[in-house]
Amino acid sequence: MESNLGSTCIFCKIIKGEVPCQQVASDEHFLAFNDIYPQAPVHILIIPKRHISSIVECNQEDQSMLGSLLLTAKMLASSHGLDRSGYRLNINAGKDGGQSVSHLHLHLLGGRAFNWPPG
Ligand code: AMP
Repeated sequence: MESNLGSTCIFCKIIKGEVPCQQVASDEHFLAFNDIYPQAPVHILIIPKRHISSIVECNQEDQSMLGSLLLTAKMLASSHGLDRSGYRLNINAGKDGGQSVSHLHLHLLGGRAFNWPPG
């Protein structure tokens, strides 16, 4: 689901170049950039260029986009040398999920070991 909140969304501003980021990759549909508060040696956010507030808002029409989002993360993990050591892909949703930015994003975390269950 798209929203006119995109005009005030920090990640939409990054996509438009109005807010700087450390870009990692970009294509027609996605932008990947380093998290400003990295929680691991590799901490990349991958976001759709179309504003979607959360995975909660996704539906059947977003199936292809969500698949591409995962494959983009997998390719970035590989290009960052994480295939052997492993990595974590994380989508936070809503209050209990710890989502702080209302624009769908996938965290790619790697370069250290992570605990389970998460805190
Ligand atoms: P979440 O808590 O899952 O919503 O994740 C939002 C992430 O966005 C956090 O890890 C923040 O550190 C990161 N973040 C917020 N603002 C920026 C920014 N301007 N540039 C890069 N990362 C950001």
